[in-house]
Amino acid sequence: MHEAWTSREVWVFECLSCAASWDEEFQVRHSGDGHGNEAVIYRCHGQPCTTPWMDRSCPSCGSQNVKALSARDGGHDEVPMARSGSDVAMVFHLRRMHAW
Ligand SMILES: [Zn+2]
Repeated sequence: MHEAWTSREVWVFECLSCAASWDEEFQVRHSGDGHGNEAVIYRCHGQPCTTPWMDRSCPSCGSQNVKALSARDGGHDEVPMARSGSDVAMVFHLRRMHAW
């Protein structure tokens, strides 16, 4: 059995060259293989894209010296470090976030 779900993440980017900042919303497709491994695919505007912290360039000055910060709703999510037994709770949590 494969399980898959989608959540949304908003990332805030800050250019270290010109101090511009902006944010982008990503759709994050998670899929588990049933053996505790999880694959994550990021999409931006419906298109597959690189992970938010890779290959960003500043829209104002074109610098790639960009810092990425995750800005999820509710601040810092507690992601359980121990996978065993917590998967169901985490899936439930992410589904609820998606419902926002
Ligand atoms: Zn810049």
